[in-house]
Amino acid sequence: MYDVAVVGAGPSGSSAARACAEAGLSVLCIEEHAAPGFPVQCAGLLSSRAFAGCEVSDHSVLNMVQGARVVSDLGAEVFFDARETKAYVVDRALLDEEMAADAACAGAEFWPKTAVVGREEGRLVTCGASGRRDVEARMVIAADGPRSGMARMLGLARAPVYLSGVQADLPLDLDTRYVEVHPNAAPQFFAWVIPTGAGRGRVGLCGTGGVREAFARFAARYPGGCTHLVTGTIPLGAMPRTYGRQTLFVGDAAGMAKPTSGGGVYTGVRAARHAAAVTVSCCEADDFSDPALAAYEQRWQADFGRELALGMRLFRLRQELTAEKVDALLEPLSDPDITDLIVRYGDMDRPGELVRRLMTKPKLLRGLVTVAGPSVRVILKDLAFGVNE
Ligand SMILES: Cc1cc2nc3c(=O)[nH]c(=O)nc-3n(C[C@H](O)[C@H](O)[C@H](O)COP(=O)(O)OP(=O)(O)OC[C@H]3O[C@@H](n4cnc5c(N)ncnc54)[C@H](O)[C@@H]3O)c2cc1C
Repeated sequence: MYDVAVVGAGPSGSSAARACAEAGLSVLCIEEHAAPGFPVQCAGLLSSRAFAGCEVSDHSVLNMVQGARVVSDLGAEVFFDARETKAYVVDRALLDEEMAADAACAGAEFWPKTAVVGREEGRLVTCGASGRRDVEARMVIAADGPRSGMARMLGLARAPVYLSGVQADLPLDLDTRYVEVHPNAAPQFFAWVIPTGAGRGRVGLCGTGGVREAFARFAARYPGGCTHLVTGTIPLGAMPRTYGRQTLFVGDAAGMAKPTSGGGVYTGVRAARHAAAVTVSCCEADDFSDPALAAYEQRWQADFGRELALGMRLFRLRQELTAEKVDALLEPLSDPDITDLIVRYGDMDRPGELVRRLMTKPKLLRGLVTVAGPSVRVILKDLAFGVNE
Protein backbone atom coordinates (compact mmCIF):
# COMPACT_ATOMS: atom_id res chain seq x y z
CA MET A 1 0.00 0.00 0.00
CA TYR A 2 1.24 3.50 -0.87
CA ASP A 3 0.89 6.40 1.55
CA VAL A 4 -0.44 8.56 -1.28
CA ALA A 5 -1.52 8.10 -4.89
CA VAL A 6 -1.39 11.25 -7.01
CA VAL A 7 -3.63 11.19 -10.09
CA GLY A 8 -2.23 13.35 -12.91
CA ALA A 9 1.33 14.54 -13.55
CA GLY A 10 0.67 18.17 -14.53
CA PRO A 11 2.32 20.93 -12.47
CA SER A 12 -0.11 20.39 -9.57
CA GLY A 13 0.33 16.61 -9.45
CA SER A 14 4.11 16.64 -9.80
CA SER A 15 4.45 19.37 -7.14
CA ALA A 16 2.32 17.35 -4.74
CA ALA A 17 4.19 14.13 -5.54
CA ARG A 18 7.57 15.80 -5.02
CA ALA A 19 6.60 17.45 -1.71
CA CYS A 20 5.12 14.20 -0.35
CA ALA A 21 8.17 12.18 -1.43
CA GLU A 22 10.54 14.75 0.08
CA ALA A 23 8.62 14.41 3.34
CA GLY A 24 9.34 10.68 3.30
CA LEU A 25 5.97 9.31 2.18
CA SER A 26 5.69 6.47 -0.34
CA VAL A 27 4.19 8.08 -3.43
CA LEU A 28 2.70 6.74 -6.67
CA CYS A 29 1.94 9.23 -9.45
CA ILE A 30 -0.39 7.96 -12.21
CA GLU A 31 -0.44 9.78 -15.58
CA GLU A 32 -2.65 8.77 -18.47
CA HIS A 33 -0.31 10.12 -21.16
CA ALA A 34 3.02 8.62 -22.17
CA ALA A 35 4.85 11.70 -20.87
CA PRO A 36 3.80 14.64 -18.70
CA GLY A 37 3.00 17.89 -20.50
CA PHE A 38 1.44 16.44 -23.67
CA PRO A 39 -0.67 17.66 -25.29
CA VAL A 40 0.22 21.24 -24.29
CA GLN A 41 -2.85 23.17 -23.12
CA CYS A 42 -1.29 26.46 -22.06
CA ALA A 43 0.05 29.82 -23.25
CA GLY A 44 3.02 29.30 -20.96
CA LEU A 45 2.93 32.76 -19.37
CA LEU A 46 3.92 32.50 -15.70
CA SER A 47 4.53 35.35 -13.27
CA SER A 48 8.02 35.32 -11.79
CA ARG A 49 6.47 34.11 -8.54
CA ALA A 50 4.59 31.28 -10.26
CA PHE A 51 7.71 30.17 -12.08
CA ALA A 52 9.72 30.21 -8.84
CA GLY A 53 6.97 28.11 -7.24
CA CYS A 54 7.59 25.37 -9.83
CA GLU A 55 11.13 24.98 -8.40
CA VAL A 56 12.76 24.10 -11.72
CA SER A 57 15.83 25.20 -13.70
CA ASP A 58 15.51 27.74 -16.53
CA HIS A 59 15.54 24.88 -19.07
CA SER A 60 11.92 25.53 -20.15
CA VAL A 61 12.20 29.35 -20.35
CA LEU A 62 11.77 30.75 -23.87
CA ASN A 63 11.44 34.44 -23.10
CA MET A 64 11.07 36.99 -20.31
CA VAL A 65 8.57 39.86 -20.35
CA GLN A 66 8.40 43.13 -18.44
CA GLY A 67 5.21 44.84 -19.54
CA ALA A 68 2.01 44.76 -21.55
CA ARG A 69 -0.03 46.62 -24.09
CA VAL A 70 -3.81 46.40 -23.67
CA VAL A 71 -5.52 47.25 -26.95
CA SER A 72 -9.27 47.80 -27.27
CA ASP A 73 -9.15 47.61 -31.11
CA LEU A 74 -11.54 50.62 -31.10
CA GLY A 75 -8.80 53.19 -30.48
CA ALA A 76 -7.97 53.12 -26.76
CA GLU A 77 -4.72 51.58 -25.59
CA VAL A 78 -2.90 51.22 -22.26
CA PHE A 79 0.80 50.49 -22.11
CA PHE A 80 2.84 49.74 -19.03
CA ASP A 81 6.45 48.77 -18.64
CA ALA A 82 7.90 47.57 -15.32
CA ARG A 83 11.46 47.75 -16.75
CA GLU A 84 12.27 44.45 -15.02
CA THR A 85 11.24 40.86 -15.61
CA LYS A 86 7.70 40.30 -14.40
CA ALA A 87 6.87 37.05 -16.15
CA TYR A 88 8.39 34.10 -17.97
CA VAL A 89 7.21 32.51 -21.18
CA VAL A 90 7.85 28.79 -20.91
CA ASP A 91 7.60 25.65 -22.98
CA ARG A 92 4.97 23.85 -20.88
CA ALA A 93 5.94 20.40 -22.18
CA LEU A 94 9.51 20.92 -20.94
CA LEU A 95 8.34 22.47 -17.67
CA ASP A 96 5.96 19.58 -16.88
CA GLU A 97 8.61 17.04 -17.83
CA GLU A 98 11.17 18.61 -15.50
CA MET A 99 8.70 18.89 -12.61
CA ALA A 100 7.82 15.19 -12.98
CA ALA A 101 11.51 14.23 -13.21
CA ASP A 102 12.22 16.19 -10.00
CA ALA A 103 9.38 14.35 -8.24
CA ALA A 104 10.80 11.03 -9.45
CA CYS A 105 14.27 12.03 -8.19
CA ALA A 106 12.70 12.79 -4.79
CA GLY A 107 11.46 9.19 -4.70
CA ALA A 108 7.99 9.23 -6.26
CA GLU A 109 7.14 6.22 -8.42
CA PHE A 110 5.48 7.03 -11.76
CA TRP A 111 3.09 4.96 -13.85
CA PRO A 112 2.94 6.72 -17.21
CA LYS A 113 0.42 5.78 -19.91
CA THR A 114 -1.92 4.61 -17.16
CA ALA A 115 -5.36 6.11 -16.48
CA VAL A 116 -7.40 5.91 -13.32
CA VAL A 117 -10.73 4.60 -14.58
CA GLY A 118 -12.61 3.81 -11.38
CA ARG A 119 -12.65 3.40 -7.63
CA GLU A 120 -13.73 0.14 -6.03
CA GLU A 121 -13.82 -0.44 -2.28
CA GLY A 122 -11.34 2.34 -1.66
CA ARG A 123 -8.89 1.12 -4.32
CA LEU A 124 -8.10 3.04 -7.50
CA VAL A 125 -8.68 1.00 -10.64
CA THR A 126 -6.14 1.81 -13.34
CA CYS A 127 -5.91 0.74 -16.94
CA GLY A 128 -2.86 1.25 -19.11
CA ALA A 129 0.32 -0.06 -20.60
CA SER A 130 0.39 -2.97 -18.14
CA GLY A 131 -3.34 -3.71 -18.32
CA ARG A 132 -5.62 -3.37 -15.30
CA ARG A 133 -3.90 -2.73 -12.00
CA ASP A 134 -5.57 -1.80 -8.72
CA VAL A 135 -3.87 0.61 -6.35
CA GLU A 136 -4.21 0.79 -2.60
CA ALA A 137 -3.27 4.11 -1.02
CA ARG A 138 -3.99 5.69 2.34
CA MET A 139 -4.64 9.05 0.65
CA VAL A 140 -5.34 10.26 -2.89
CA ILE A 141 -4.43 13.65 -4.36
CA ALA A 142 -6.59 14.29 -7.41
CA ALA A 143 -4.64 16.49 -9.83
CA ASP A 144 -6.36 15.19 -12.95
CA GLY A 145 -7.00 18.53 -14.60
CA PRO A 146 -10.04 20.36 -15.98
CA ARG A 147 -12.21 17.34 -16.72
CA SER A 148 -11.42 15.61 -13.41
CA GLY A 149 -12.83 12.10 -13.62
CA MET A 150 -11.93 11.78 -9.92
CA ALA A 151 -14.41 14.54 -9.00
CA ARG A 152 -17.08 12.79 -11.08
CA MET A 153 -16.34 9.45 -9.38
CA LEU A 154 -16.92 11.08 -5.98
CA GLY A 155 -20.02 12.93 -7.24
CA LEU A 156 -18.61 16.30 -6.18
CA ALA A 157 -20.00 19.57 -7.61
CA ARG A 158 -17.64 21.10 -10.19
CA ALA A 159 -16.66 24.62 -11.29
CA PRO A 160 -19.58 26.78 -12.51
CA VAL A 161 -17.80 28.19 -15.60
CA TYR A 162 -15.72 26.50 -18.32
CA LEU A 163 -13.70 28.56 -20.76
CA SER A 164 -12.55 27.16 -24.09
CA GLY A 165 -9.20 28.28 -25.44
CA VAL A 166 -7.41 28.12 -28.79
CA GLN A 167 -3.85 29.21 -29.53
CA ALA A 168 -1.44 29.08 -32.45
CA ASP A 169 2.37 29.36 -32.49
CA LEU A 170 3.27 31.62 -35.41
CA PRO A 171 6.14 33.60 -36.91
CA LEU A 172 5.61 37.10 -35.41
CA ASP A 173 7.57 40.31 -35.54
CA LEU A 174 7.21 41.59 -31.96
CA ASP A 175 9.14 43.44 -29.30
CA THR A 176 9.94 40.40 -27.14
CA ARG A 177 9.66 42.42 -23.91
CA TYR A 178 5.90 42.93 -24.01
CA VAL A 179 2.76 40.86 -24.26
CA GLU A 180 -0.42 42.17 -25.86
CA VAL A 181 -3.95 41.78 -24.49
CA HIS A 182 -6.99 42.34 -26.73
CA PRO A 183 -10.16 42.23 -24.60
CA ASN A 184 -12.57 42.89 -27.46
CA ALA A 185 -11.26 40.09 -29.66
CA ALA A 186 -12.82 37.62 -27.16
CA PRO A 187 -15.96 39.29 -25.81
CA GLN A 188 -16.33 37.16 -22.66
CA PHE A 189 -12.61 37.14 -21.75
CA PHE A 190 -9.61 38.30 -23.83
CA ALA A 191 -7.17 37.42 -26.60
CA TRP A 192 -3.40 37.45 -26.22
CA VAL A 193 -0.23 37.82 -28.22
CA ILE A 194 2.83 36.46 -26.40
CA PRO A 195 6.36 36.66 -27.82
CA THR A 196 8.23 33.39 -27.37
CA GLY A 197 11.51 34.73 -28.79
CA ALA A 198 12.83 36.73 -31.73
CA GLY A 199 10.45 36.35 -34.68
CA ARG A 200 8.06 33.93 -32.93
CA GLY A 201 4.99 34.15 -30.77
CA ARG A 202 1.69 32.72 -29.56
CA VAL A 203 -1.66 34.13 -30.60
CA GLY A 204 -4.70 32.84 -28.75
CA LEU A 205 -7.92 33.55 -26.93
CA CYS A 206 -10.39 32.11 -24.45
CA GLY A 207 -14.14 32.53 -24.08
CA THR A 208 -17.36 30.76 -23.21
CA GLY A 209 -18.92 30.72 -26.69
CA GLY A 210 -18.14 31.32 -30.36
CA VAL A 211 -14.47 30.70 -29.58
CA ARG A 212 -13.53 29.00 -32.85
CA GLU A 213 -14.98 31.85 -34.95
CA ALA A 214 -13.45 34.56 -32.76
CA PHE A 215 -10.07 32.83 -32.96
CA ALA A 216 -10.28 32.57 -36.77
CA ARG A 217 -10.95 36.32 -36.97
CA PHE A 218 -8.17 37.19 -34.51
CA ALA A 219 -5.55 34.85 -35.99
CA ALA A 220 -6.25 36.25 -39.48
CA ARG A 221 -4.51 39.45 -38.32
CA TYR A 222 -1.26 37.50 -38.01
CA PRO A 223 -0.51 35.78 -41.29
CA GLY A 224 2.07 33.01 -41.18
CA GLY A 225 2.26 29.27 -40.85
CA CYS A 226 0.98 27.86 -37.58
CA THR A 227 3.43 25.27 -36.27
CA HIS A 228 1.59 24.29 -33.07
CA LEU A 229 -2.14 24.52 -32.41
CA VAL A 230 -3.32 24.32 -28.81
CA THR A 231 -6.90 23.77 -27.66
CA GLY A 232 -8.05 23.37 -24.08
CA THR A 233 -10.51 24.03 -21.29
CA ILE A 234 -10.16 26.14 -18.17
CA PRO A 235 -12.58 25.61 -15.26
CA LEU A 236 -13.28 28.83 -13.33
CA GLY A 237 -14.67 28.89 -9.80
CA ALA A 238 -13.38 26.50 -7.16
CA MET A 239 -15.42 23.41 -6.29
CA PRO A 240 -17.63 24.08 -3.25
CA ARG A 241 -15.78 21.30 -1.45
CA THR A 242 -12.23 20.25 -2.37
CA TYR A 243 -11.87 17.15 -0.18
CA GLY A 244 -13.72 13.98 0.74
CA ARG A 245 -13.30 10.20 0.97
CA GLN A 246 -9.54 10.33 1.62
CA THR A 247 -9.07 12.56 -1.42
CA LEU A 248 -7.84 16.15 -1.86
CA PHE A 249 -8.49 18.04 -5.14
CA VAL A 250 -5.81 20.41 -6.43
CA GLY A 251 -5.30 22.74 -9.42
CA ASP A 252 -7.63 22.58 -12.40
CA ALA A 253 -9.32 19.49 -10.98
CA ALA A 254 -10.61 21.79 -8.23
CA GLY A 255 -11.34 24.81 -10.50
CA MET A 256 -8.50 26.90 -9.06
CA ALA A 257 -7.40 28.81 -12.19
CA LYS A 258 -7.45 32.59 -11.75
CA PRO A 259 -10.69 33.99 -13.20
CA THR A 260 -8.96 37.22 -14.28
CA SER A 261 -6.38 35.52 -16.50
CA GLY A 262 -7.19 31.80 -16.78
CA GLY A 263 -3.73 31.05 -15.40
CA GLY A 264 -3.74 27.97 -13.18
CA VAL A 265 -0.13 26.98 -12.62
CA TYR A 266 0.45 29.35 -9.68
CA THR A 267 -2.63 28.34 -7.68
CA GLY A 268 -2.20 24.67 -8.65
CA VAL A 269 1.33 24.54 -7.30
CA ARG A 270 0.36 26.44 -4.12
CA ALA A 271 -2.58 24.08 -3.55
CA ALA A 272 -0.31 21.08 -4.14
CA ARG A 273 1.99 22.19 -1.30
CA HIS A 274 -0.98 22.59 1.06
CA ALA A 275 -2.30 19.17 0.00
CA ALA A 276 1.12 17.59 0.63
CA ALA A 277 1.39 19.16 4.10
CA VAL A 278 -2.07 17.92 5.09
CA THR A 279 -1.35 14.47 3.62
CA VAL A 280 1.79 14.22 5.74
CA SER A 281 -0.15 15.17 8.91
CA CYS A 282 -2.95 12.71 8.10
CA CYS A 283 -0.44 9.90 7.56
CA GLU A 284 1.40 10.74 10.78
CA ALA A 285 -1.84 10.79 12.77
CA ASP A 286 -3.30 7.87 10.82
CA ASP A 287 -6.47 9.98 10.55
CA PHE A 288 -8.09 10.27 7.12
CA SER A 289 -11.49 11.48 8.27
CA ASP A 290 -13.21 14.43 6.59
CA PRO A 291 -12.53 16.75 9.57
CA ALA A 292 -8.80 15.96 9.21
CA LEU A 293 -8.90 16.56 5.44
CA ALA A 294 -10.77 19.85 5.94
CA ALA A 295 -7.47 21.41 7.08
CA TYR A 296 -6.49 21.39 3.39
CA GLU A 297 -9.42 23.55 2.35
CA GLN A 298 -8.75 25.94 5.24
CA ARG A 299 -5.13 26.25 4.15
CA TRP A 300 -5.67 27.02 0.48
CA GLN A 301 -8.62 29.31 1.25
CA ALA A 302 -6.46 31.32 3.65
CA ASP A 303 -3.69 31.48 1.05
CA PHE A 304 -5.52 32.49 -2.15
CA GLY A 305 -9.25 31.84 -1.67
CA ARG A 306 -10.06 35.52 -1.33
CA GLU A 307 -8.16 36.35 -4.53
CA LEU A 308 -10.13 33.67 -6.41
CA ALA A 309 -13.43 35.07 -5.09
CA LEU A 310 -12.35 38.57 -6.13
CA GLY A 311 -11.34 37.26 -9.55
CA MET A 312 -14.75 35.64 -9.99
CA ARG A 313 -16.46 38.97 -9.25
CA LEU A 314 -14.24 40.69 -11.82
CA PHE A 315 -14.99 37.92 -14.32
CA ARG A 316 -18.76 38.47 -13.85
CA LEU A 317 -18.27 42.23 -14.24
CA ARG A 318 -16.33 41.63 -17.46
CA GLN A 319 -19.34 39.71 -18.88
CA GLU A 320 -21.37 42.95 -18.70
CA LEU A 321 -18.90 45.06 -20.70
CA THR A 322 -19.52 45.72 -24.39
CA ALA A 323 -16.63 46.56 -26.73
CA GLU A 324 -17.51 50.27 -26.40
CA LYS A 325 -17.48 50.06 -22.60
CA VAL A 326 -14.09 48.34 -22.64
CA ASP A 327 -12.80 51.11 -24.91
CA ALA A 328 -14.19 53.78 -22.57
CA LEU A 329 -12.66 52.07 -19.51
CA LEU A 330 -9.19 51.92 -21.03
CA GLU A 331 -9.16 55.69 -21.46
CA PRO A 332 -8.84 56.58 -17.72
CA LEU A 333 -6.51 53.60 -17.24
CA SER A 334 -4.03 55.15 -19.68
CA ASP A 335 -3.50 58.13 -17.32
CA PRO A 336 0.23 58.07 -16.34
CA ASP A 337 -0.74 58.27 -12.66
CA ILE A 338 -2.74 55.05 -13.09
CA THR A 339 -0.19 53.20 -15.22
CA ASP A 340 2.38 54.03 -12.54
CA LEU A 341 0.09 52.37 -9.98
CA ILE A 342 -0.33 49.34 -12.25
CA VAL A 343 3.44 48.99 -12.60
CA ARG A 344 3.98 49.30 -8.84
CA TYR A 345 1.14 47.16 -7.54
CA GLY A 346 0.02 45.05 -10.50
CA ASP A 347 0.25 41.37 -9.65
CA MET A 348 -0.79 38.63 -12.06
CA ASP A 349 -1.48 36.24 -9.20
CA ARG A 350 -2.97 38.50 -6.57
CA PRO A 351 -4.88 41.46 -8.10
CA GLY A 352 -6.54 42.51 -4.79
CA GLU A 353 -3.91 45.06 -3.77
CA LEU A 354 -4.03 46.83 -7.16
CA VAL A 355 -7.84 46.99 -7.06
CA ARG A 356 -7.67 48.56 -3.60
CA ARG A 357 -5.16 51.15 -4.85
CA LEU A 358 -7.17 51.92 -8.00
CA MET A 359 -10.20 52.62 -5.83
CA THR A 360 -8.40 55.59 -4.36
CA LYS A 361 -8.32 57.33 -7.78
CA PRO A 362 -11.45 59.48 -8.18
CA LYS A 363 -10.99 59.99 -11.94
CA LEU A 364 -10.85 56.25 -12.55
CA LEU A 365 -13.82 55.59 -10.25
CA ARG A 366 -15.86 58.27 -12.06
CA GLY A 367 -14.97 56.62 -15.40
CA LEU A 368 -15.96 53.19 -14.08
CA VAL A 369 -19.27 54.44 -12.70
CA THR A 370 -20.06 56.19 -16.01
CA VAL A 371 -19.27 53.09 -18.03
CA ALA A 372 -20.47 50.24 -15.84
CA GLY A 373 -23.22 51.99 -13.81
CA PRO A 374 -23.36 53.26 -10.21
CA SER A 375 -23.47 49.73 -8.75
CA VAL A 376 -19.81 49.36 -9.69
CA ARG A 377 -18.77 51.46 -6.69
CA VAL A 378 -20.46 49.00 -4.35
CA ILE A 379 -19.00 46.05 -6.25
CA LEU A 380 -15.51 47.52 -6.06
CA LYS A 381 -15.84 48.06 -2.32
CA ASP A 382 -16.88 44.42 -1.95
CA LEU A 383 -14.01 43.37 -4.16
CA ALA A 384 -11.43 45.28 -2.20
CA PHE A 385 -12.62 44.40 1.27
CA GLY A 386 -13.54 40.78 0.73
CA VAL A 387 -16.92 39.26 -0.03
CA ASN A 388 -16.87 35.59 -0.86
CA GLU A 389 -18.82 34.26 -3.86
C1 LIG B 1 -5.43 27.84 -24.00
C2 LIG B 1 -4.92 27.83 -22.58
C3 LIG B 1 -3.94 28.72 -22.20
C4 LIG B 1 -3.48 28.74 -20.87
N1 LIG B 1 -2.48 29.61 -20.53
C5 LIG B 1 -2.00 29.61 -19.27
C6 LIG B 1 -0.92 30.46 -18.92
O1 LIG B 1 -0.40 31.22 -19.74
N2 LIG B 1 -0.47 30.43 -17.62
C7 LIG B 1 -1.01 29.58 -16.68
O2 LIG B 1 -0.59 29.61 -15.51
N3 LIG B 1 -2.02 28.75 -17.00
C8 LIG B 1 -2.52 28.73 -18.27
N4 LIG B 1 -3.53 27.87 -18.61
C9 LIG B 1 -4.07 26.99 -17.56
C10 LIG B 1 -3.09 25.89 -17.21
O3 LIG B 1 -2.74 25.18 -18.36
C11 LIG B 1 -3.72 24.97 -16.16
O4 LIG B 1 -4.29 25.73 -15.14
C12 LIG B 1 -2.66 24.01 -15.58
O5 LIG B 1 -2.17 23.13 -16.54
C13 LIG B 1 -3.27 23.23 -14.42
O6 LIG B 1 -2.35 22.28 -13.97
P1 LIG B 1 -2.86 20.93 -13.30
O7 LIG B 1 -1.65 20.16 -12.97
O8 LIG B 1 -3.85 21.24 -12.25
O9 LIG B 1 -3.69 20.19 -14.47
P2 LIG B 1 -3.14 19.66 -15.90
O10 LIG B 1 -1.96 20.42 -16.34
O11 LIG B 1 -4.34 19.63 -16.79
O12 LIG B 1 -2.69 18.19 -15.58
C14 LIG B 1 -3.61 17.15 -15.34
C15 LIG B 1 -2.93 15.85 -15.69
O13 LIG B 1 -3.78 14.77 -15.30
C16 LIG B 1 -3.73 13.77 -16.30
N5 LIG B 1 -4.98 12.98 -16.17
C17 LIG B 1 -6.25 13.38 -16.39
N6 LIG B 1 -7.12 12.40 -16.12
C18 LIG B 1 -6.37 11.33 -15.71
C19 LIG B 1 -6.69 10.01 -15.28
N7 LIG B 1 -7.96 9.59 -15.19
N8 LIG B 1 -5.70 9.17 -14.96
C20 LIG B 1 -4.40 9.58 -15.02
N9 LIG B 1 -4.03 10.83 -15.41
C21 LIG B 1 -5.01 11.70 -15.74
C22 LIG B 1 -3.64 14.56 -17.60
O14 LIG B 1 -3.14 13.77 -18.66
C23 LIG B 1 -2.69 15.68 -17.20
O15 LIG B 1 -1.34 15.34 -17.41
C24 LIG B 1 -4.01 27.83 -19.92
C25 LIG B 1 -4.99 26.92 -20.31
C26 LIG B 1 -5.45 26.91 -21.63
C27 LIG B 1 -6.50 25.91 -22.03
